[in-house]
Amino acid sequence: MARRDAEFIRRWLGAAAEAITRDAGRLTELDSAIGDADHGSNMRRGFTAVVAALTEEPPPPDPGHTLLVAGRTLISTVGGASGPLYGTLLRGAGKALGDEQAVEDERLAEALRAGVDSVARLGGAAAGDKTMLDALLPAVAVLPDYAAARQAAEEGAKATVPLRARKGRASYLGERSMGHLDPGAASSALLVVALAETAAADEEA
Ligand code: ADP
Ligand code: MG
Repeated sequence: MARRDAEFIRRWLGAAAEAITRDAGRLTELDSAIGDADHGSNMRRGFTAVVAALTEEPPPPDPGHTLLVAGRTLISTVGGASGPLYGTLLRGAGKALGDEQAVEDERLAEALRAGVDSVARLGGAAAGDKTMLDALLPAVAVLPDYAAARQAAEEGAKATVPLRARKGRASYLGERSMGHLDPGAASSALLVVALAETAAADEEA
């Protein structure tokens, strides 16, 4: 079974930053329908800063500290709700890993589940509230099967379309939030796809 080190987390977050930069326009468009049209720029700013923080020398020595630095960076650079929420996800996962040098996939999966639980605690949202959790919860539930997690995140994001938003800015729209894909669920799917692709690239190597 694969063991994941700091370099693996750096490659994951780097791939996530690329996907977010590529799709920033689409994320902002989704947010313009049911929010304030800043989700793409929030995420791009945050993940660009994460990549910069992780290329400083010396890099964080282990996967846990890599996630902690990334989470702290998101919290300090993103003004919107998504910054503290994603920051809490990564920090929660980092805390769960402590200072182990490399971890089994099952341990990383547990840490990511702990991170997603902290998002739910911080934001008070549950499954079906039309938030990032609708992509994240089904994905971390099937980890460490990365391919299944990718599919679950993409399906979970799509399934937010008919939902009525109960948390965050979109909830102010009430029923008018229905019929639109949640921007945070869309960005969460990008993060999970990046994770699955990074893991798949490792298996091929
Ligand atoms: P803001 O809403 O402050 O403009 P963003 O546009 O960057 O921040 O992020 C919006 C996304 O954040 C939403 O699409 C939703 O997925 C997520 N979100 C908002 N509030 C919550 C919450 N309480 N719990 C989980 N996710 C949330
Ligand atoms: Mg917004």
